Amino acid sequence: MYAAVLHGPYDLRYEEVETPACPPRGILIKTIACGICGSDLRTYGGGSSKTIYPAISGHEIAGEVVESEYPAFPVGAKLSIAPVIPCGRCWYCTNGIQNQCDNMRMIGTAEGIAGGFAEYVAFSQDMLDTGCFTIIPDGVDPVDTVIAETASSVLNAQINTNIVMEDLVVVIGSGTIGCLHSEIAGIRGVKETIIVEMNPDKAQLARDRGFKNIYTMGSGDPELKKLVLEKTKGRGADTVISACPAGQAQADAINLTRKRGKVIFFGGIPPKGGVILDTNAIHYKEITIYGASAYSPEVNRRALNLVLSGQLDAKKYITHRYELKDLAKGFEDMGKGKMIKGVVVF
Ligand SMILES: [Zn+2]
Ligand SMILES: [Zn+2]
Repeated sequence: MYAAVLHGPYDLRYEEVETPACPPRGILIKTIACGICGSDLRTYGGGSSKTIYPAISGHEIAGEVVESEYPAFPVGAKLSIAPVIPCGRCWYCTNGIQNQCDNMRMIGTAEGIAGGFAEYVAFSQDMLDTGCFTIIPDGVDPVDTVIAETASSVLNAQINTNIVMEDLVVVIGSGTIGCLHSEIAGIRGVKETIIVEMNPDKAQLARDRGFKNIYTMGSGDPELKKLVLEKTKGRGADTVISACPAGQAQADAINLTRKRGKVIFFGGIPPKGGVILDTNAIHYKEITIYGASAYSPEVNRRALNLVLSGQLDAKKYITHRYELKDLAKGFEDMGKGKMIKGVVVF
């Protein structure tokens, strides 16, 4: 089979490799689509201390079962795959916090388990048993379901933070994650969401795709603060979500929040990218700061249901499609901020 194999930082080769065998009691899928994620871009550029070369990455996978020794997923079934595989046994898993599993295995993050930037992917029984694999019903385009992976992380954050029927949520960043936060907040009954994006091209792209209330300005712009105060009779936003990899945005988020408001730090920042936070504001205004990472199989199912039911319009997000051999071009485009979501379609 052909795969996009990462041999080192920026050394991505489209080459022939051995097709994986169907594991005993496991399945082999033929990849239909695999989304390109910001974390794939980081892996492409050097990854982390956990990166193992050579690697086939890609974790936002939809595929069709072509060999099966697992009766629940017979040959011909189309699957959406949540790549965050919890162990089911550790303290966090047994206390319902699977997204913080101590023994988490990740499909397609270049940490030893091959992912979806390949024509075929094999999955073992212990992975299939975790509830991370869902059959895509007929009538739904499997390509659309790749958006469910990122949507799961976003939904996890909004559930943990209890974003429901608020007056104003501010999202910093108009990438896939920022747009998803805005749309999912709307689904959860938030009256108004605004997205702040400092890159004019990115802001325009999101507008062109039908996302509303996008302001081209930096999160520290005094005009933004004025706007937020105007919209909330001088209070500030109920929740501010920093959905961009910048420490300054995290600091600005605190400044835009009302008393007893909430701030979500969504997404990592580069090492040494942190800035000093206004801890007095956190203290006196009783602001709560939340982290957010990954999701449980349950939250993935709920996010996937949003896509399957059409409540969340996946097609709005998918701005770029690539052939597998052109994946490096996809990374290049993503690095330039040209896309909302790029997908490799097989
Ligand atoms: Zn992802
Ligand atoms: Zn666990």
